[in-house]
Amino acid sequence: MKILDGKALSITLQEEIKIQVTKSVAQGHRAPHLAAIIVGDNPASRVYVGHKIKACERVGFKSSLFQEPKDITQEALIARVEALNVDPSIDGFIVQLPLPNHIDALGVTLSIDPDNDVDGFHPMNLGKMALGLETYIPATPYGIMLLLERYAIETSGKDVVVVGRSNIVGTPMSILLSRNAKVGNATVTLTHSRTKNLSEILKKADIIIAAIGRANFITTEMVKEGAVIIDVGINSVEDPTRKSGYRLVGDVDFENVAEKTSFITPVPGGVGPLTVAALLMNTMKSYYKKFN
Ligand code: NDP
Repeated sequence: MKILDGKALSITLQEEIKIQVTKSVAQGHRAPHLAAIIVGDNPASRVYVGHKIKACERVGFKSSLFQEPKDITQEALIARVEALNVDPSIDGFIVQLPLPNHIDALGVTLSIDPDNDVDGFHPMNLGKMALGLETYIPATPYGIMLLLERYAIETSGKDVVVVGRSNIVGTPMSILLSRNAKVGNATVTLTHSRTKNLSEILKKADIIIAAIGRANFITTEMVKEGAVIIDVGINSVEDPTRKSGYRLVGDVDFENVAEKTSFITPVPGGVGPLTVAALLMNTMKSYYKKFN
C-alpha cells in the first residue's frame, strides 16, 4: 500500500506556481489576484477560505476576502458578484459554498462571469469540460486528476466507481475520467444514494472515488485487493482524546481498508490540499489569458 500524499503534491504544485508568478512579476506584470466571497459565519467555510488565502500568500498572489452577513439578500449578493465581474484587477473569484438556505445558489453561480469562475461551477465551464474544451475544471476533481497524473496511476481501460453525484465533485469527476484524454479512458460507474448493490459494484472497481460525506462508509469487504482509493470525504467525528474533542475522517474506513489497497489518499492530507492548489492553477490560467 502506498499513500497518495496530496499535501506534499500540493506543496510541489504551489512551488511551481510561485516560480511562474515570480517570473511574470519580474517581467513587470502585476501579481495574480484571487478573491473570495463568504456569506455568514459557517466555521468550516471560514477554515476552507482561510486555507485558500494562506495559499495565495505562499505563491505570491494577491487575495481579497469579501465577508457578507448571513442575512444578505439574493440581490445584494448578486450585486457583489457583478462588481467583481467587472473589476479588472481580479483574475478570478469564488463564492464559498454552502450558502444560507434563503439564497438561490444556482442563481448566484449563474451571475458569475464564466471568465472569472475559477471554481468552474458555471454551466458554461461545466459544458466546456464535458466537451473536452479548454476551461476551468472544478477544483476538487481537477486536484484528483493532477494526483492521478503525477503518481502515474493508469486510468485507461480501468473500472472506476465514483460514489456521490454532486455537481462540484462526483458528476464532473465521472465526466473527466470517461473522456478520451491522457488521464481518462476509464469505464466509469457513477453511484449515489439510490444505487442498488453498491457493495457489489464497488468490489469490482479498480479505482474508487468516494465523495459522499459519511464517515468511514466504505469498509474493507467492499474493496477489491489492490484497488486505488481516492477519499474526498471530510467528516468530523467525536474524539475525546483530542483537545478539540473531534477529528476529521474520510468516507473510507482508512484504518482497515488501507492495507488492502495499492494506493490510498489519507484524510486529512489527501484531496483537500489539492483542491486548494487546483484553484490557484485555475486562477493562474485566467491571469495568463491577460498577460500572455
Ligand atoms: P453532497 O452532499 O452534495 O453529495 C453527496 C453525494 O453522496 C450525493 O450524490 C448522495 O446521493 C451520495 N450519497 C449519500 N449517501 C449515500 C449512500 N448511502 N450511498 C451512496 N451514495 C450516497 O456532497 P459533496 O459532493 O459536496 O461532498 C462530499 C464529501 O466530500 C463531503 O464530505 C464534503 O465535505 C467533501 N468535500 C471535500 C472536498 C475536498 O476538497 N476534500 C471538496 C468538496 C467536498 P444523492 O445524490 O442520491 O443524494
